[in-house]
Amino acid sequence: MRMEAYQECIDPACRLRYPIDEFRITCERGHALDVKYASTPSKSLKDVFYARRNHGNNIYNESGVWRFRDLINFAQIDTEEYEECKKYLVSLDGAEGRLSKPFKMSKVAEYVGMDKDCLFLQPEGYNPSGSFKDNGMATALTHAKMLNVKKIMCASTGNTSASAAMYASNEGILCEVYVPRGEIAIGKLGQALQFGAQVVEVDGNFDDALQIMLREAKSSNAYVVNSVNPFRIEGQKAIVYRALEYLDWNPPDWLVYPGGALGNTSSAGKCLMELYEWGWIKKVPRLAIINAEGANTLYTLYNGKFNGRALRWNKGKVDLELIGEYYAYMDKQNIRPRTDATAIQIGRPANLLKGLRALEFTNGVVEQVSDGEMYDGMAVVGLNGFDCELASGAVPAGIKKLREMEVIKSDDIVVGILTGRQKDPNLVIRYHMDANRRFAVTPRAYKDLKKDTK
Ligand SMILES: *Cc1c(COP(=O)(O)O)cnc(C)c1O
Ligand SMILES: [Zn+2]
Repeated sequence: MRMEAYQECIDPACRLRYPIDEFRITCERGHALDVKYASTPSKSLKDVFYARRNHGNNIYNESGVWRFRDLINFAQIDTEEYEECKKYLVSLDGAEGRLSKPFKMSKVAEYVGMDKDCLFLQPEGYNPSGSFKDNGMATALTHAKMLNVKKIMCASTGNTSASAAMYASNEGILCEVYVPRGEIAIGKLGQALQFGAQVVEVDGNFDDALQIMLREAKSSNAYVVNSVNPFRIEGQKAIVYRALEYLDWNPPDWLVYPGGALGNTSSAGKCLMELYEWGWIKKVPRLAIINAEGANTLYTLYNGKFNGRALRWNKGKVDLELIGEYYAYMDKQNIRPRTDATAIQIGRPANLLKGLRALEFTNGVVEQVSDGEMYDGMAVVGLNGFDCELASGAVPAGIKKLREMEVIKSDDIVVGILTGRQKDPNLVIRYHMDANRRFAVTPRAYKDLKKDTK
């Protein structure tokens, strides 16, 4: 099926449009961009997506991203033509999104106070590079390939660089990644190097690395694969498609994500806006976005904790002054984001405006949790035999908090996204070495074990 695709500014008072085969991060007035499709996809595609699960050795059916290619067809190809798919679509041999779908986790449900049949967690860490980033990186690299790009760049708290480097190396594209020195998980740094990327260490935090990288990219005209790239946001919609398909396209009451740069928040919002507009869903799930207490810009602004003004999308008329005042206050007070969950240690979420749009459309909520609560959340996921990293622990921790506040009811249907798998085993070991931690099982010496059983 052919679809006319283009890029459009998200500001309702601007709405500048650009062709699909142009690379830009903003419109010429500095607003973020959306990828748009002119036609409404047929609901009968639901059956096509389901049938593709029997993939018949077609990697674009095997892929949990490209199985839904008709809904992200910015390459405007004939989606039934294998040869055309092969010519355009970037995939790690069908591996992205292949193993992630909602799972029931009874111990997590009990811990957070939900009915065990109502809580689902979707481990996006079970992607080839170990995080949800692969969903959007497959599409960003597809766009880069459409434009014949030879080199991509990103700033990263770790997982973006791992994913970018993985796809770039497999496609023979150069990859340069800017990371905050000493503030990314060792396993993530190892992956970027393993996949042959040029790592550039920045003295500063992620926000600094992003600014520096964007400046470098501008001067060298490089292709940027951070989530400010609207083609990343397109691929990440597949996370929601998989969750919805699993629930027979009956929307849950809640979708819960950790909040960092707010790429997922933006993507889920856009995905739901489209599906609702197309009549594919009748009900809109509410988004619950969970910040770390030590990196809580969205929580602070959205809930009116700064200057008493609650920041809203407000149909596109965002109180930009409030954001400016808060960032100036952070600079003046030297407030730096601080959390062990480095994946969400972000002070200036690059997708803040798109995130606000998503929260408005879904009547969303924003909560914050402490590092301690995230550790317990991460640990209890482990007790169900699933693996996730600390930032993903914000999801069970946040659901627990929203349950205690009765914002989420025990029989609401909740899908929480576990964004990445564990790449810093030292965090886990330290947790379990501390017998005071709620789920700690501290290793014991064999000789002491013998003593106790006498
Ligand atoms: C990148 C990342 C996040 C933050 O993602 P956003 O959607 O941009 O807020 C959260 N968790 C993990 C594991 C990540 O890698
Ligand atoms: Zn604009």
